[in-house]
Amino acid sequence: MPSYDPNNIFAKILRGELSAHKVYEDDKTFSFLDIMPRTPGHTLVIPKAPVRTFLDIAPDDLAHLIKVTQRIARAAVKVFAADGLTIQQFNEPAGGQVVFHLHVHILPRQTGVPLKPPATFKEDSAVLSDQALKLAAALKG
Ligand code: 5GP
Repeated sequence: MPSYDPNNIFAKILRGELSAHKVYEDDKTFSFLDIMPRTPGHTLVIPKAPVRTFLDIAPDDLAHLIKVTQRIARAAVKVFAADGLTIQQFNEPAGGQVVFHLHVHILPRQTGVPLKPPATFKEDSAVLSDQALKLAAALKG
């Protein structure tokens, strides 16, 4: 398997070189909104450790990542009044991965509404800002 490339987009977000609509952060994880959401509230959760795929992360860091993902998913379901929830995680091009820093997708779902195809719709920054604030507030409440 290829090694970790520190120039991937999410590594740049972690280093503050690219901006993101932050939802949550702790010492091991960072969460922000997807700029091309497949559904309103499409949120990404990433480890701060430089890991490429699910296969590379330390088990304790993975356990923490999943706990944080569940916490944010619960907030997302509330904020977006979701009827359901899709959690996705892709590894390597053959597995559908496009950005090579491990990440988990949180996708709040509404009955009968299909996911938009990946990378087909770029959300307005003001909309993402508002959604990120709502999610961050729900996580504190
Ligand atoms: P993957 O297929 O690797 O699991 O998904 C990568 C995700 O990253 C896609 O959903 C895509 O929309 C999202 N994405 C790509 N570039 C950026 C970016 O610069 N900022 C943010 N917030 N998301 C991005």
